[in-house]
Amino acid sequence: MEETIQLQVSGLIKKFGEDTVLNGIDLSVRQGEVVVVLGPSGCGKSTLLRCMNGLETPTAGTILLDGEPISAGDRNITRQRQKIGMVFQSYDLFPHKTILDNVTLAPRKVLKRPKAEAEADAQRLLERVGLWEKRNAYPRELSGGQKQRVAIVRALCMNPEVMLFDEVTAALDPEMVREVLDVMLELARQGMTMVIVTHEMRFARAIADRVVFLDGGVIVEQSPPEIFFTNPRTQRARDFLQTFTYENRRP
Ligand code: ADP
Ligand code: MG
Repeated sequence: MEETIQLQVSGLIKKFGEDTVLNGIDLSVRQGEVVVVLGPSGCGKSTLLRCMNGLETPTAGTILLDGEPISAGDRNITRQRQKIGMVFQSYDLFPHKTILDNVTLAPRKVLKRPKAEAEADAQRLLERVGLWEKRNAYPRELSGGQKQRVAIVRALCMNPEVMLFDEVTAALDPEMVREVLDVMLELARQGMTMVIVTHEMRFARAIADRVVFLDGGVIVEQSPPEIFFTNPRTQRARDFLQTFTYENRRP
């Protein structure tokens, strides 16, 4: 595995008013590494990801991508943010634009790429997720799983160095979850640096190089998945994992 640190979070504190949501996060993500962030609802997972791509301004601390700061006040912010793709639970595609227009819009407007070039990239990526034949369809004509795959392609069309995924399958019907997770597994295999928040525990175990367990605004535990899921070190992690288990619950 490459040892280059691609994304480095140091001493990250994020407060909303009096509420300290992140209370000193240190996290380095190596190039090509897949980090899965787990933790109870409201523990700050989304806030952490949003700080990582500059959507939130840290109260304190630094976030470096390739050694350069990402922070909302920074002049580099636009260029730096373009290197970090993010996919959310809601796909937020433009309803009145075709799939092809949805995924080529930002490369053309923001990166000023020529139409033919942007479309060639889009074709390659849409083919990869099996959706090139839907290029002239509108979002409403696609299933949730297909829309989420388009949202992933839209992020990839910006040619990011790091991809952040925030519960991207949480709103999908169960039979559509797999097709989205498969796209993420394929990205991981190709060496994309990824930070993933998910409630799909089997997927987390399969894809993660490292699991980071967040609770009470701090990283409580971080381990390789085979250790985290079989022998977590902390009681808080054990309690969290127990909420995903249905065995041995009867008295
Ligand atoms: P998670 O993704 O782990 O469920 P979040 O990062 O969404 O948690 O939220 C962590 C805490 O921060 C929650 O208590 C939430 O209410 C609060 N929070 C998140 N965003 C904001 C905001 N923009 N303003 C105020 N509070 C927020
Ligand atoms: Mg969240």
